Amino acid sequence: MKLTILMYHKIDELTPSVRYPGNYVTPAQFARQMDALLMWGYRTIRFDRWLDYRDGRATDLPEKPLIVTFDDGYTCFDRNAWPVLKARGMGATVFLVAGQIGGTNAWDREEKQEPLLDAPRIRQLQGEGVHFGSHSYNHAALARIPEARALDELKKSRATLTAVLGRAPDVVAYPFSNQNRAIRRMAEEAGYRCAVRGKGRMNWKWNDPFGLRRIKPGNDLGDLRRTLLRERYVRVF
Ligand SMILES: [Zn+2]
Repeated sequence: MKLTILMYHKIDELTPSVRYPGNYVTPAQFARQMDALLMWGYRTIRFDRWLDYRDGRATDLPEKPLIVTFDDGYTCFDRNAWPVLKARGMGATVFLVAGQIGGTNAWDREEKQEPLLDAPRIRQLQGEGVHFGSHSYNHAALARIPEARALDELKKSRATLTAVLGRAPDVVAYPFSNQNRAIRRMAEEAGYRCAVRGKGRMNWKWNDPFGLRRIKPGNDLGDLRRTLLRERYVRVF
């Protein structure tokens, strides 16, 4: 069994002021991808189900478990992604930058500034079944800053999100996918149960739960299909 985790950022139309179009998937393409994933047999689960399966406490996972994730917590998730997922009975995990809730992607000065979900809306979405995780406090590249600051980013974001959500987040997404072995152990020390990065691969049971790999879909359904087929059937490790 392999766990597939997809990594999206913004589900929105491209405008001329966008600097990094690679972080956008159009709403129509996103809906096509969700329909295709269901048709290919993928079914969404939550991170805790995967951890239970790893620990031998869950045996009834779907054959192709899937987690659909969204980095940064943009309001376009609310407008363009969640309605699509909800209508199909699919789940989502959104990674929030705890120090920028209700703000914009201020860490990305050169990029078009997009609004981020605020606390009341985050709580409503949680009530509707959206799962929220941490994406650090300031969107810091954790392996490139002093260790004490990296640990603080992980701990402070967890504490802030615990206050917003009414429960502690169990998963963290490393900003810019920037991490190393020391950062992975730090995420564990900070109290998370698992963590995700990029890397474009699927996950086996024996992969480090603090280094879970994600696949980043673009705007081409054929590309996504080829990537998933290669990862599922061609690559063994
Ligand atoms: Zn991010």
